[in-house]
Amino acid sequence: MNAPQNERVIIIGSGPAGLTAAIYTARANLSPLVIEGEPSSTSDQPGGQLMLTTEVENFPGFPEGIMGPELMTNFRAQAERFGARFLTEKATRVDFSARPFRVWVRDTEYIADSIIVSTGARSLMLGLPEEQRLIGHGLSTCATCDGFFFRGQHIAVVGGGDSAIEEATFLTKFADKVSIIHRRDEFRASKIMQDRAFSNPKIEVIWNSTVTAVLGESKVDGVELTNTVDGSTSTLPVTGVFIAIGHRPNTDLFAGILDMDETGYLVTEAGSTRTNIEGVFACGDVQDHTYRQAITAAGSGCMAAIDTERWLETQHG
Ligand code: NAP
Repeated sequence: MNAPQNERVIIIGSGPAGLTAAIYTARANLSPLVIEGEPSSTSDQPGGQLMLTTEVENFPGFPEGIMGPELMTNFRAQAERFGARFLTEKATRVDFSARPFRVWVRDTEYIADSIIVSTGARSLMLGLPEEQRLIGHGLSTCATCDGFFFRGQHIAVVGGGDSAIEEATFLTKFADKVSIIHRRDEFRASKIMQDRAFSNPKIEVIWNSTVTAVLGESKVDGVELTNTVDGSTSTLPVTGVFIAIGHRPNTDLFAGILDMDETGYLVTEAGSTRTNIEGVFACGDVQDHTYRQAITAAGSGCMAAIDTERWLETQHG
C-alpha cells in the first residue's frame, strides 16, 4: 500500500467550528483535509447540529434568516473554494502519541503535522421514533435558537436540571405558558434557578412524568405523558417541546488521549484552542458547554486555525 501523504492539517468534524477552521487554514495555504463525518440522522453528520435545525435567525449577516442546512452548505462551499478537501467519512481511530499524528478511517491511515478537533456535541434525546421527524417542526433542543418562534403559545420543556430551568425561564419571554415536565418530584437544578422558576407565573411544573410520545404529523400539537408513580397517561396540548436533558460531547475517539473534564468535554488552555498535546487544537462545542452557538463555534474555529498556523510556523520556520 502507498504511504499516506503527510498533510499539514487534518480537521476532524465539519460543523461551524470545523468549517470555519477549514476556511481559514485553506486561505493560509495549508490545504486542510476535513474528515467531515458520514450522512446520518444524528448531529455527528457532515454539517453538525445545524443540519437538524430549520430556520436560523441569529447568525449575523442573514437579516432574513437562513435554513440551517443551507448555512452549512455555504460554509462548506466557501472552504472548498480555497482548497479544503473533504472526506465524507468518520474518523475511527487516532494516535497522537508521536508526530506526525495519525488518523484512521477504518483501515485507511492519514497523517498530519497538526490536528484540529471539532467533533461537536449532541443533545440527548428521549429516544422516541418521532423525534427525528419533528425536530425543527415544534421540537427543539435549543431555546436560545428557537424560542422566538413560540410567541404567545403553550410549550413544554423536558428535564429537571439547570438547562431545563434556564430554558423554561428564557422561554417565558415568548410563550404564554411553559410546562416543565420532570420525571421525579424534585429538581436537580440549583436552588436559585428553581426559585426563579417557582416564582414565575408563566411556569407550571408537571412532576413525576415522562414524555412517552410527541404528538403531531408535520408539526407538534401535543405530548403524551406517563406518570412515573402510577403509570397513568394523559395528553398535554402544546405547540412546542424543548428537550433539555443534557448534552454529550463527541469525544469517545479521544478517550485516554486528550484531556477532558468530568463530563467528557475537551479541555483547552484558557484563551486559546490548545489541548494538552502540542499541535492538537480543539474548537466548537466539543470544548464548550457554556455557549453552544453556531457563531461562538465558528469564532473558536477561526481561533483554532490561527493557533494551528502559528504553531506550524514555529515547527517549520
Ligand atoms: P443535567 O444536570 O444532567 O440534568 C439533566 C436533567 O434531565 C435531569 O433532571 C434528569 O433527570 C433529566 N433527564 C435525563 N435523562 C432523561 C430522560 N431520558 N427523560 C427525562 N428526563 C431526563 O443536564 P443540564 O441541565 O444540561 O446541565 C448540565 C451541566 O451544565 C450541569 O452541571 C449544570 O449545572 C450546568 N448548567 C449550568 C447552567 C447555569 O448555571 N446557568 C445552565 C445550564 C447548565 P434526573 O434529575 O431525574 O436525573
